[in-house]
Amino acid sequence: MQQNNRLTTWLFIAILAGIGLGLLQPQVALRFEIGGEVFLRLLKMLVVPLVMASVMTGIIGLGDVRRLGRPGIVAVVYYLCTTLMAVIVGIVLVEWIEPGSGGLPNPSVPEAVPAKGMVGEEADIGTILRNMVLMLVTDNLIAAMAETQLLPLIVFSILFAGTLTLLGERVRLVRDFIVQVNEALLTFIMGVMKLAPLGIFCLVAARFGEAQSQGAFLQTLHQTGRYMITVLLGLGVHSALTLALILWLATRRRPWRFLTAMSPALLTAFSTASSSATLPVTMECAVDRARVRREAVEFVIPLGATINMDGTALYEAVAAIFIAQVLGVELSLMQEITVALTATLAAIGAAGIPEAGLVTMVIVLNAVGLPVEYIGILLSVDWLLDRFRTAVNVWGDSVGSAVVERVIAAQPDSRKAS
Ligand code: ASP
Repeated sequence: MQQNNRLTTWLFIAILAGIGLGLLQPQVALRFEIGGEVFLRLLKMLVVPLVMASVMTGIIGLGDVRRLGRPGIVAVVYYLCTTLMAVIVGIVLVEWIEPGSGGLPNPSVPEAVPAKGMVGEEADIGTILRNMVLMLVTDNLIAAMAETQLLPLIVFSILFAGTLTLLGERVRLVRDFIVQVNEALLTFIMGVMKLAPLGIFCLVAARFGEAQSQGAFLQTLHQTGRYMITVLLGLGVHSALTLALILWLATRRRPWRFLTAMSPALLTAFSTASSSATLPVTMECAVDRARVRREAVEFVIPLGATINMDGTALYEAVAAIFIAQVLGVELSLMQEITVALTATLAAIGAAGIPEAGLVTMVIVLNAVGLPVEYIGILLSVDWLLDRFRTAVNVWGDSVGSAVVERVIAAQPDSRKAS
């Protein structure tokens, strides 16, 4: 436990030192970019093999793919409900604080944001749902791996491992191989984590240095201050109240303890702004530090990293209503409900990469007829808010794994974690 806390302390120091250096000596801080990039690549390199090996190991551990049914349903219900709750918290706060009323001191920023992936200018709900179904399957497994498209890889892994469980002794070697690869990857991650304080220091220093060297960083913060406070307050309420309460009620785990155990993952999420890149650390922390059963971690966290994004959903709802307020547009109740639903969908569709939420926000704005160009007014601070919402996304996945663990434990003849 003491060793655990030591890592968290070092990570905190690394982040604070990175912010300090970035703001005080931006040119020096920028030189650390290479160190951050190396650390990021080490993490990202592990994501595809880890997701595939861990999801397959999870199914092999269950012994039969049909046993995924109940935990799978609970996981999806958990993802949807918590995302919706996050959105509601965001909407209540943005309507209460009204950060956009009175416009912006300097609203001349709008510039087009490229719409890519599943998002197009014409995005309507039907097209979005159709694209979401298509996102589940790939016609080229290797391409999906090369592009880190995790959803089709998860679907393939479930089906492939399901097949392995049907073939019994004939494929014992393949099963053992997969389980051992997974074991080795988790140990590998523990090694990479030793570099984390250094890598995180470099990442944070370089990013804050970049913002500072572009000038007017603090002034921008001041201009968009009330909007940022609204998002941060929402993220805080959702993490510390909603998710903590769900964790306590569903699992009787103490939220503070669980948070401490998961802290390296949350701090890595803050530093990388990517839930996919953080995935190896999240899994390692959940298994080794929070002691969540592997069967739960192995499929809830990879799936959650791709589709469960409470922080992103909350931010998308707040940002859309903020834009309406800046423009002086009054949204009807129906439109607010549309914002809530589309923000949930947009968050599910967002990839776990930096600032993905900014792109999928086109869906929300289109749905209520707000001008997409106004995403431009959020750009200057998005990189910073992204870090906080990514940490909340990872926190949501972690709590989800503990909740689903309870369901797996309650299944008849559930096996002990290996
Ligand atoms: N960066 C976020 C994540 O990786 C997604 C987003 O909100 O932009 O979870």
